[in-house]
Amino acid sequence: MRYASVIVDLKVSQTDRSFDYEIPHEWRGIIKPGMRVVVPFGSRKLQGFVVEVKDESAVKKVKAIDELLDPTPVLNEELLKLGEWLTESTLCFKITAFQAMLPSALKANYQKELLIHKDRSYEHLHPDIQTLFQKNKKLDWNKACKSPYFHVIQKEIEAGNLEVQYVVKQKTNKRTIKQIKAIASKKELQAFLSKLPKQANKQKRILQFFIENDDPIPLKKLLEEVQCTVSSVKTLIDKKMLLEEEVEVYRDPYEKEHFEKTNPLPLTNEQTKAIQPILASLEKEQHDVFLMYGVTGSGKTEIYLQAIEEVLKKGKEAIVLVPEISLTPQMVQRFKGRFGSKVAVLHSGLSTGEKYDEWRKIDRGEVKLVVGARSAIFAPFQNIGIIIIDEEHETSYKQEENPRYHAREVAIYRGKYHSCPVVLGSATPTLESYARAQKGVYNLLTLTERVNKRPLPTVEIVDMREELRKGNRTMFSESLYTKLKNRLENGEQAVLFLNKRGYSSFVMCRDCGFVISCPHCDISLTYHRFDEKLKCHYCGYEEMMPPHCPDCKSKYIRFFGTGTQRVEEEIAKVLPEARVIRMDNDTTSRKGAHEKLLKSFGRKEADILLGTQMIAKGLDFQDVTLVGVLTADTMLHLPDFRASEKTFQLLTQVSGRAGRHTLPGEVVIQTYVPEHYSIQLAQRHDYALFFQKEMYIRKLHHYPPYYYLVLITVSHQEVTKALSTAEHISLFMKKRLSDKAQILGPVSSPIPRINDRYRYQCMIKYKRESSLYESLKAILKHYQQEMNQTDLTISIDLNPLMLM
Ligand code: ADP
Ligand code: ZN
Ligand code: ZN
Repeated sequence: MRYASVIVDLKVSQTDRSFDYEIPHEWRGIIKPGMRVVVPFGSRKLQGFVVEVKDESAVKKVKAIDELLDPTPVLNEELLKLGEWLTESTLCFKITAFQAMLPSALKANYQKELLIHKDRSYEHLHPDIQTLFQKNKKLDWNKACKSPYFHVIQKEIEAGNLEVQYVVKQKTNKRTIKQIKAIASKKELQAFLSKLPKQANKQKRILQFFIENDDPIPLKKLLEEVQCTVSSVKTLIDKKMLLEEEVEVYRDPYEKEHFEKTNPLPLTNEQTKAIQPILASLEKEQHDVFLMYGVTGSGKTEIYLQAIEEVLKKGKEAIVLVPEISLTPQMVQRFKGRFGSKVAVLHSGLSTGEKYDEWRKIDRGEVKLVVGARSAIFAPFQNIGIIIIDEEHETSYKQEENPRYHAREVAIYRGKYHSCPVVLGSATPTLESYARAQKGVYNLLTLTERVNKRPLPTVEIVDMREELRKGNRTMFSESLYTKLKNRLENGEQAVLFLNKRGYSSFVMCRDCGFVISCPHCDISLTYHRFDEKLKCHYCGYEEMMPPHCPDCKSKYIRFFGTGTQRVEEEIAKVLPEARVIRMDNDTTSRKGAHEKLLKSFGRKEADILLGTQMIAKGLDFQDVTLVGVLTADTMLHLPDFRASEKTFQLLTQVSGRAGRHTLPGEVVIQTYVPEHYSIQLAQRHDYALFFQKEMYIRKLHHYPPYYYLVLITVSHQEVTKALSTAEHISLFMKKRLSDKAQILGPVSSPIPRINDRYRYQCMIKYKRESSLYESLKAILKHYQQEMNQTDLTISIDLNPLMLM
């Protein structure tokens, strides 16, 4: 094969196609689709992905590939196809799709070298190349490429004797440690020991250690174990008794943790009924999508675990997605506890290097199961047996930047490719998924009871307007207060949930009503007590809290709304004996802080866990018998047609945190709109009726799942430019689409200005439009040059979840 088609790393529409390059002689038969290369492009050099190799090229003068970056493809055939599909279905550039599927370590600038696999030595290598590696076990990649024995090297890479190390500019990508081993025989060690003078105690202990132990040992561990210093070890190295070597280790974020081994539990009747269809489709190697609708605590996770066990028995692999914020130590524990070292964990709390190590374990087939957040859906497994998406209703499964994919859709794509089941689990499925299940597109599996028939918690709704009338000005209703006090007396724990989304602590003048807002964004600033500052959550602008109203100079300027810090202060006032752990963005920003706080709560070092959205998911504590929701309705007022659905989901999820074990649970929901159906039905745990009511409203207003949506957002520094462009787009779409499609707008976005850029949006509602994608592509193409050269941005979101 003489030529390679390459997608280059340049994000403009003119280059969103492959370009032909000649494959230099030494790499023919070596370069394969899915490998990354460096190619000349115009006057510069670009990284690119080979998508095809071929014998002919229609192009007359082709340049040659400069550099080969991978010994084996980083994107396999399936992922290359998936990349094409992502490009088509989300309207992104091919290069963006490819890059989204790989760990960021592979995107960075790097140098590379070849080294002998950690378990092998140069004697394992082909004789022709042994000398190349004899000296320091490493070989510069560029030298390797130019070597006449490159074909031998490649075979050794495939055989696993050699591997490529990417060295990122700032840090090495593989971690190594110093390890000590004996090179002298035990006899020699013994002989040397007996000749040592009396006072050389440390050396003696070290020698004794190696006489008794055969295996090499990390230097650090040796020092601890025999209580000696580096210098004694060095002396023995100099005497040719011991040898120090660098060996690669994986960075394991969980290395200090011990995971108690767990065994499969005998399933309940409901669980048995739910798992059977999944096992059947595994058996038949058939692609089915299952929607597992099961109330909180109904044992969904146990079903996942047992289905995965079957998959692993067949020698296949599994992907489990969980929302970022519920990837708690508890969740990891459940998978690592059952499957031990076969599990890779991927989430945003890992460093670039840690993520890369986990990715390589998957790529090399050293693990069989990945548990991770959204992007783990691209795990480079070759033989997937099941894909599970827990809490399928979570909005974090949609990526809010290009490629704007939804992990559920990618899962279904991969499930088809591998002929394997996809399981979507939730106690509050999205309307879209439940509607599909009702139509038979997905298979519905239902779990109506908690395991061992533990009752769902009783939920009390408190009307906060009444509390005010009764003269209670605190943020705790009488009922919640009494119940909290009661928990403290009984030594039980409580979770207090503050719904902060759409409700920040804004600053208002009590005299004139002036609200301080960001000078760059049309949104009020948020008060941060910690540093007495006002901050914009969109652009990062901040200023000091002013002593007087900027408008009328009144000194009665106060912040409104409730932040977690204020709740904490209030608890200290009314329940001074309570020990509180607060979890919000401020207290969890440092790496590992999240886990630390949860563990501390688990050890009962606090009575109350107070937090925002991040505590709504996946927590499971024995002694939590009370959940309080301080403000249930704040999200209802967002300009979003999913506001009711999100409120219902959140309240149900939060309630699910109470009474999961032997102690019964209670929930108190405080609200200013107690009559709202999403709150009423969450109280009754009535998903079915909520679904019915909400579907009716969606139908009435032409929203999903009855209609599909496209959201086009135009932004520009000049308001007239943003508006006129949006108007053009709207007119163009009206001409191109059938009269069954509705094109709304342009209207100014719910947040009309962010970072000094004005924002206008058009919304398209449609059922079936054959020329939709082509028309949207035409828009991007038409404005491409202007977007590159000026300040204009146009974003197209198919099936948007965020309407702001
Ligand atoms: P969900 O994922 O639906 O919220 P879980 O799988 O977390 O439910 O189960 C809730 C609790 O019940 C967990 O503590 C779990 O260990 C336990 N559990 C699940 N299945 C069984 C079973 N078959 N027998 C006994 N306990 C179970
Ligand atoms: Zn701002
Ligand atoms: Zn004022």
